[in-house]
Amino acid sequence: MFVKAEKSEPVKKKTKSLCYFVTEKLDLPIGFPKLEEKLTNSVKKAVLETRAKLGSISIIHTLGIIPADRIIVVGLGPRHKITHESLRSAAGKLSKKISEMGLEEYSLVIPNNFPINSKTAINAIVEGARLSLYSFDRYKKDRKTKFPSLTIISSDVNASKIVSKAITISDAVLFTRNLANLPPNECSPLQLAGITKSLSANKKLKVTVLSKSELRQKGFGGISAVGQGSKNEPKLILLEYNGKKQSKTTILVGKAVTFDTGGISLKPADKMDEMKFDKCGGCTVIGIMKAVSELNLPINLVGIVPSVENMPGGESYRPGDIIKLYGGKTAEILNTDAEGRLILFDALAYGIKTYKPKEVLDFATLTGACIVALGANVAGLVSNNKKIVERINKSSQNTGEQVWQLPIDDDYMDMIKSDYADIRNTGPGRVAGTITAAAFLANAVGNTPWAHFDIAGTAWVQTGTKEKSYNPKGATGYGVRLILDYLSNP
Ligand SMILES: [Zn+2]
Repeated sequence: MFVKAEKSEPVKKKTKSLCYFVTEKLDLPIGFPKLEEKLTNSVKKAVLETRAKLGSISIIHTLGIIPADRIIVVGLGPRHKITHESLRSAAGKLSKKISEMGLEEYSLVIPNNFPINSKTAINAIVEGARLSLYSFDRYKKDRKTKFPSLTIISSDVNASKIVSKAITISDAVLFTRNLANLPPNECSPLQLAGITKSLSANKKLKVTVLSKSELRQKGFGGISAVGQGSKNEPKLILLEYNGKKQSKTTILVGKAVTFDTGGISLKPADKMDEMKFDKCGGCTVIGIMKAVSELNLPINLVGIVPSVENMPGGESYRPGDIIKLYGGKTAEILNTDAEGRLILFDALAYGIKTYKPKEVLDFATLTGACIVALGANVAGLVSNNKKIVERINKSSQNTGEQVWQLPIDDDYMDMIKSDYADIRNTGPGRVAGTITAAAFLANAVGNTPWAHFDIAGTAWVQTGTKEKSYNPKGATGYGVRLILDYLSNP
């Protein structure tokens, strides 16, 4: 979807739809110009009818009184409750409506007296407008190929720059969704690595892929064990971006299990199709790396994506196995469906040893327990560093991608100690499943500043997901906007 910014006078603008926002208790939209009384009264009536409820839309035909064919008024609810999130959501609803009506373009006015500063407002609006029109339809004969274009009318001198950045960010989210929505027969670890390699064409990203034999030889015992049951061999995908000389790097690690059957500890059949989304953490990391290289952010960043298919078979690893993880710690396997932490452990330990980073963030659809605890709209956050958590919370407010911090301390670390190995890959029974998974990872991280995101609930639209105009069916691309905001505001 094409978006541009323009500094023009709305009443003189020739457009299919001239769109304005309105808040409760106003009788006319924010920044509405003086027009012929007949038309102004029609707009007032329409505003009265919807009472400016969040996401409400009224259409007023202008009958040739101004060059625009129609005026569309979009409700934002009470003025004191306007946030970036409500703007994103309302812009998404508007965008969908325009698309349903088959209009090829529309213009949206951000007046000078808008309640939120225009920089962040424009960003949220462009995100909402573009993300709402997504659908994963590449395998359908009837595909929607035409989308309306949007003109943002604003007097902000930086409006074009803001729009362009928001396009890059939303493109990264759409890229991530496309990757995550791929069916498992079209996205093996090899195929995921291939798609990622194509990103290095812009020369700012270096992509390296480690093969099954290299992984085994270099001591990636977790990835090797989980991947050994599938004929689709495991890969480790490394993405390197250098945007600032002589400064410490940030590492992003993302779990990419391209399909998770549970392995020998086989999952039930119900909803097993959703386990194609077990690669979402890795897809998020790849999407972030793409955007960072396009935005030329002045940072150093490394993405590490361990990718496997977890299958049952004659070669599969088993409950009871003891394996040696990267760096030498041993793990007792109690459940082969707790595979994510094994591949993440290797990736975290390798990244920290190789790059000595200033911080490491990891993303994984790791535990069903996270959905039990927090539902499907909030990601679990476990961290050993207060500053990182503060910054994440700030970015979370900017982007509407919610997180909630869970505790971790020595008592939790004790819960994954094993009788026969250094650690075990599940905690005792069903208690604190999200935290014991994080405690397993903490063994790889040591004192490096670290934050772990359990995105099992937020990575795709599932039972319990709150309906959002800009999160259509399938993968959401959760975390891409959150972390781009985090990395842009060091
Ligand atoms: Zn699993």
